[in-house]
Amino acid sequence: MSYARNLSHVNRILIVGAFFVLSLMSSLCAESSSPRYIFLFIGDGMGFEQVRLADEALKERDGSQTRMTRLPVTGQIRTHSANNKVTDSAAAGTALACGVRTDNGRIGQLPDGTPVEPVSLKLLKEGMMIGILTSVTANHATPAPYFSHAGNRREYESIAMQFIGSGVHFLAGRGLAGGSDVNDRVISAYRESGIAVVTNFTNVTDVPKEQRMALLVPSVGSPKQQQGDLADATALAIERMKDNPAGFFMMIEGGAIDWVCHANQGWACVEETLAMDRAVEVAYNFYLQNPENTLIVITADHETGGLSVDGEKLDLPMLKHIERQRRLFDAAIPDEIDMLTMDAVMNAIREYLGITEITEDQLTSLEDAVKKENRYDLVRLAVNVAQTAAGITWSTGGHTGVDVPVYAIGAGAERFRGTYDITHIPVKLFEAAVGRVLFTE
Ligand SMILES: [Zn+2]
Repeated sequence: MSYARNLSHVNRILIVGAFFVLSLMSSLCAESSSPRYIFLFIGDGMGFEQVRLADEALKERDGSQTRMTRLPVTGQIRTHSANNKVTDSAAAGTALACGVRTDNGRIGQLPDGTPVEPVSLKLLKEGMMIGILTSVTANHATPAPYFSHAGNRREYESIAMQFIGSGVHFLAGRGLAGGSDVNDRVISAYRESGIAVVTNFTNVTDVPKEQRMALLVPSVGSPKQQQGDLADATALAIERMKDNPAGFFMMIEGGAIDWVCHANQGWACVEETLAMDRAVEVAYNFYLQNPENTLIVITADHETGGLSVDGEKLDLPMLKHIERQRRLFDAAIPDEIDMLTMDAVMNAIREYLGITEITEDQLTSLEDAVKKENRYDLVRLAVNVAQTAAGITWSTGGHTGVDVPVYAIGAGAERFRGTYDITHIPVKLFEAAVGRVLFTE
């Protein structure tokens, strides 16, 4: 008994000693390169193949490649959630914001519902200004854990309302999820509490820098380089927060990458990934002016679609063409698909997607979708037949459990090398910025 107690006592001394050495080392590291300006980009659903496909598109266009894959530090993370080998964006967002594993669906909470403070709000307490930006709705699962807690990711109104008390300075998205009533109630509550709500990008400069701002404009979600896209919102956030003496932390989500990968849209995936990469470029230009104290980290919450790119067969102009034809094919399929014969389906595939040959497996899955009256899956699977001929395949309309990439540059970037757990991202960010471990209890 006493031997066991002695052993555990020795263990405790060793653990405390190791912690002391580790925190000494990390504070020494932090002293030499502690970032004051931190950018965390999250490509929702962006696996290695999504990035490679975007790189292939740039190579073909002008011989270039994405900014993210030109950064010097690379790593990869494991993404599973507490209760599932395949995470959703709520649990992965919580891991990336709070450094803890939770069950799918939960926002900023442990599996038992205990709220956990995110790295964003910890950095706010350190004096940093905080910006949360996304190309999808601002109260969606990935941005939400940076300023709110919820037992269910669909508590859109509660999530949006918690932005008021969070103290986060800048919120940007293509509006709010939850419908027009939720939007109306939330926007008037924001205004009543002194938050400037801007719904048109041309009015952004009217808001004084000290005032908190919610930029809720549809163009933030546009991959077409309209004025006010994610890259413009990133530039605006920098402009509003760069003069803060303690610096800033920004989370910028390429949220629609996930949405188009759920629908298995190859060319749209290229466009969405490049839209986020243009925002990375904005951060990179800021880094070039402030290389000593800027940190840029780009990662993903999970992969979506099980995308696989066949380099030999890849035909990007054809992929782009298929995206256009997809709309025509979609319009040609009636809503009541139980009325459809396989002959009619095959005719539509031939006419709109130009496909004349189909494998036994592909035919079976199309028949299955018709039998189940799943119109969405029928369109997705039919277009996949065409995309296979253009060199890309998808294994699912959902998420997968594969590792996802990490790219980094700047002060503290070395910490992000290697293969590690998704929960380590905010821990590493906090340690890089503050020189202390994230969890002090
Ligand atoms: Zn998703």
